[in-house]
Amino acid sequence: MIDISKQKIDITCESCNRKISISLEQVANEATITCRCGTKIKLQDSNGKSKKAIRDINKSFKDLDKTLKSFGK
Ligand SMILES: [Zn+2]
Repeated sequence: MIDISKQKIDITCESCNRKISISLEQVANEATITCRCGTKIKLQDSNGKSKKAIRDINKSFKDLDKTLKSFGK
């Protein structure tokens, strides 16, 4: 079962320009992450967009899964 919330994305630290790998789940949860330079970055899920995207995409995968299974019959 694919869970898109485990998908990694890269953000750039505005202090040191280092790339930081975070998961979509962390964005949806508006987690605060700490860069190796010590800068704290509060992830923003504006209007719950990431949460909604995760839900929608996971639903698509579920539907696809069902479709593929029905092909096997
Ligand atoms: Zn940094």
